[in-house]
Amino acid sequence: MYGMRYSLIVMGLAAWTALAAEVPQDPVECNNLGIQAYNAGRFEESLKWFERAYRDARDNEVVRRNLCNARQALANELAKNNNLSDAVKQLNQAIGIDPENPAPLIQLGAYCLRMDRVSDAIFRLEEAIELKPGELDAHELLGEAYYRDNDIPSARVQWDYVLQMDPNRKELKERYDKAFREESVETDFNRAGSRHFKISYPKGMTYPLRARVLNILEGAYWDIGRKLGGIYPPPPIQVIIYDATQFSEATQMDANIGAVYDGKIRAPMTDDSGQSLVEEELKRRLVHEYVHVVIRHRCEDKVPWWLNEGLAETLSREMDAGETEILRKAYAGGVNFHLAALEAHQLKALGPQALRLAYAQSHATVTLLWNRFGQSRMQPFLGDIAAGIAPEEALRRNYRKTYLKLEEEVESSL
Ligand SMILES: [Zn+2]
Repeated sequence: MYGMRYSLIVMGLAAWTALAAEVPQDPVECNNLGIQAYNAGRFEESLKWFERAYRDARDNEVVRRNLCNARQALANELAKNNNLSDAVKQLNQAIGIDPENPAPLIQLGAYCLRMDRVSDAIFRLEEAIELKPGELDAHELLGEAYYRDNDIPSARVQWDYVLQMDPNRKELKERYDKAFREESVETDFNRAGSRHFKISYPKGMTYPLRARVLNILEGAYWDIGRKLGGIYPPPPIQVIIYDATQFSEATQMDANIGAVYDGKIRAPMTDDSGQSLVEEELKRRLVHEYVHVVIRHRCEDKVPWWLNEGLAETLSREMDAGETEILRKAYAGGVNFHLAALEAHQLKALGPQALRLAYAQSHATVTLLWNRFGQSRMQPFLGDIAAGIAPEEALRRNYRKTYLKLEEEVESSL
């Protein structure tokens, strides 16, 4: 048996010897030793090795990720012992080292919730999802955070998404059902907004209707943001809802305009005869306008009309037979638009028929680009446009097509 004092000295000596003679200086070797220690569950030790590797290889992504993982593992140990405040410190350092990694943000969000720091949790979890949309644990936790922040429409959107992707989450299902039983009792609560949207409404627009609008828009916030590769405009996004008469009075627009985005989303809730819009139609219109919000956020006013409207249509509904028919006729008669003519922001000079053709053609054009090439091309395409590259040049770079070629492909797709 060794006495305490003796063993301390031996430990000290060993450490000193190692430092003097055997400590590898090569970051690769330090990293390997860190991995050995990590895999053996010796996280403190692994942290020391990874830090040493990091000192000489700050730009190396693997080293940074390993160091981040070691801190996350230590935080996990601390949290198991209910030392959440030290666990949070570990995670804050981890995030500083590896800021593109959503994992420590999600872990931190979970701990913040445990500590009842709801708005901190929301902040971290939203950040995690912006880095990597679709991580189910992050969405579930964010739903919980919104729920606790008394933002039920936003919570529902997160949980709907998780349960849709993974219906086997029993605990969440129970949680969800309970929350919305409560909600049905609390309909008199005066809500005028959700996480990302502020809604203005006239007297008589009931809570269920407003909640429906917010549900649709919160859903669009995540869905459209994800589809376009992580574009999330900062809140609050202003929404004004009207009946049909108020809408045309306020916007001075024709009855055939379904809704509008002019920096605020403006949408009527009824048709001309005063009937409430059916759910599908309401959703189509709101999602269409929300796509404009996202595109404006990404490209400011640089996006050509056909792309802006085409994306709004493509991401809110399918092509229908009526549109296809309009297009076939236009192409057959040679009166289809050239895309270059559909670049201007306002097409006010067009009559209603020509405008329908312009929408249908934009819809078909973007549907073709989206269905054949998806997000991976659309994302850099929008990026180029945002950077000020002319639309046709951006098209050529990302899709290897001229306007003329694209017009021909749309024609043959009909
Ligand atoms: Zn539009």
